[in-house]
Amino acid sequence: MTSANLILARMGEITLKGLNRGKFESRLMKTLRRNLHPVGNYEVFQSQSRIWIKPKDEPSREAIPQAIEAARMVFGLVSVSPAVSSLQPADTAGLLTGAVAFVRDYLQQHPAARTFKVEAKRGDKRFPWASPQICAACGEAVLEACPTLQVDVHQPDFTLFVEIRESILYYSEKLPAAKGLPIGSSGKGMLLLSGGIDSPVAGYMMASRGMEIEAVYFHTFPYTSDRAKEKVITLAQRLSDYCGRLFLHVVDFTDIQMELRRQVPEDMMTVVMRRVMFRIAEGLARQYGCQALITGESVGQVASQTTEALVCTDAVTSMPVFRPLIGTDKDATIELARRIGTFETSILPYEDCCTVFVAKHPKTRPSLTQAEEAEAKLELDALTREGVSKVETFRLV
Ligand code: ATP
Ligand code: MG
Repeated sequence: MTSANLILARMGEITLKGLNRGKFESRLMKTLRRNLHPVGNYEVFQSQSRIWIKPKDEPSREAIPQAIEAARMVFGLVSVSPAVSSLQPADTAGLLTGAVAFVRDYLQQHPAARTFKVEAKRGDKRFPWASPQICAACGEAVLEACPTLQVDVHQPDFTLFVEIRESILYYSEKLPAAKGLPIGSSGKGMLLLSGGIDSPVAGYMMASRGMEIEAVYFHTFPYTSDRAKEKVITLAQRLSDYCGRLFLHVVDFTDIQMELRRQVPEDMMTVVMRRVMFRIAEGLARQYGCQALITGESVGQVASQTTEALVCTDAVTSMPVFRPLIGTDKDATIELARRIGTFETSILPYEDCCTVFVAKHPKTRPSLTQAEEAEAKLELDALTREGVSKVETFRLV
């Protein structure tokens, strides 16, 4: 990979999206350019349904690997390849010289490789050889130059991909990228982001379907410490690596929680608190142009996530609530949290507001009537307005 001088990236599902395709692609290009920006100076352009990423300056050793990591996080891309674009002319002699040079370089980095095959694509039909001829000639030239290698078309240790364009392109790796749809192609959702394991994963999953993400965190200082808030900011930061620019709204929830504690029967505290959170989240969602709420809930996981409790929380909002983890096991969620790099932060042991105020024996199957009765003494509109207005907003890029 060290000698690669450009990156080839492939788009996935968007190729299916017919008329909207142009819009999806420009969203993707925007996210990709933004992700590459902090890494270095790259030229990014689209050609023949691929995306090309070229370092503008004389590439440093890290320029390509870093850009690859940045590109792999972009939703809408299925794979990326570090590639060598030959300086040789696109003629048959240049093709063979370039192929041998590429394979020699590959073997230096992968000395254990014993078998290979060649796959070719002739993008420029003026080139005199058709694809099968290109494969055969490159294979022969490589075998002659590298006697330790043999051809294995079924299970080769590596594949030499050759593409003929204005220049000739060689690569051997197709590294998987984030897949999904480009951010911004599926509207915008307000993620209820706690410091836990689930909600960052839920945000990631909706973002992977193209949703732009905005986040809200309910902070109950001093019952939850500033370290708990820092933890949520770190999680939001990590999410923004995938989702792009992200606003995190931290609601000062302390007075509201205290009011709930005074006015709500203890065993209904959890469900009422969640109903209040949802009302505030919806208020913020409308203010910031979101069409849906997103949570990390999974049915049956804890008292507040029984079907009955979910019915009670849904009843306070007219927005759809997306719960991508609703039928997911914790183990699977943890695995994804590890993969996207939120797990280590999520397990830091700082209390969250739900654990501070939670009842010993919450009602696990509250009815809607019970929930409404438990809220009888609350000034709900005022509390919601208070929550929506007592917000500190962080911009994460
Ligand atoms: P998580 O791991 O995401 O915290 P959890 O399994 O701990 O989830 P709960 O604490 O009951 O479950 O929270 C359920 C969902 O409610 C969370 O996934 C999150 O979307 C939202 N939520 C909980 N607490 C907060 C908070 N303090 N601020 C914002 N959202 C929250
Ligand atoms: Mg939690």
